[in-house]
Amino acid sequence: MKIVKYEDIVLKVKLACLQMTTDLPQDVQNKLEMMAMQEDGQLAKQMLDIIIENANIARQENRPMCQDTGMVVCFVKMGQNIQIEGGLLADAINEGVSLGYEEGYLRKSVVNNPIDRINTLDNTPAIIHYDIVEDDVLIIEVAAKGFGSENMSQLKMFPPAAGIAGMKEFVKQVVIDAGPNPCPPIIVGIGLGGDFEKAALLAKKAAIRNLDEVNPNEKLLALEKELEVEINNLGIGPQGFGGKTTTLKVNIEMFATHIAGLPVAVNINCHAARHIKVVL
Ligand code: SF4
Repeated sequence: MKIVKYEDIVLKVKLACLQMTTDLPQDVQNKLEMMAMQEDGQLAKQMLDIIIENANIARQENRPMCQDTGMVVCFVKMGQNIQIEGGLLADAINEGVSLGYEEGYLRKSVVNNPIDRINTLDNTPAIIHYDIVEDDVLIIEVAAKGFGSENMSQLKMFPPAAGIAGMKEFVKQVVIDAGPNPCPPIIVGIGLGGDFEKAALLAKKAAIRNLDEVNPNEKLLALEKELEVEINNLGIGPQGFGGKTTTLKVNIEMFATHIAGLPVAVNINCHAARHIKVVL
């Protein structure tokens, strides 16, 4: 049995919140720089250069890269032999979020519910998903999700006959509907299969997946590349000003599904794709 202390989780989550909102992950920065070199439209290139400059200033001056510092989403992988000493895991994560958002003067964007809409004043609760795994590990993927992009996400329950062609058309239509709203270039996270809620969860995982990760499923890898080209041919471009760079990456996550269904969820992440891995 491995013991993990409550206060260590609080501290690491707090530091993760402070770092991810000011320090654009290297995978995203690298892709932005690569796309800026490839972009030949003058305005599109200028937009990408501004986005990169903004990320650099945020890192150097320790300031948030965007005013929307997001709602915190965590994917927890917890080994069966881990025991948290001193309190509950969810409480530790929320305490870390609360301290991080306070200390970093990060915008508190969470309201208590969609009807009363009273700000909780510390950006909690975080949305936490749990996976129980075999090893003695506690890994928390922490992401800050802005709602300019979250609001542009969609889910559709297709019949199987819609096939991959129907799925691709839907994904592209979601990106077209979103237009400049999610601050392109975007990351397109696709959840394929499962049921209604599983598809959405897969899409969120895909939207915050590291851009350097190569899909181990060859069919999905090919589909990701095809969609990336087709979405970039839509011409929406950086911040919607036109150009070749509408998406930085298309990521697909897949799961088993029912014989009668083809669930497809699309979760969009903006260029300020803040994610960080906490290992305890
Ligand atoms: S979509 Fe992203 S970059 Fe645009 S305002 Fe929201 S958090 Fe900021």
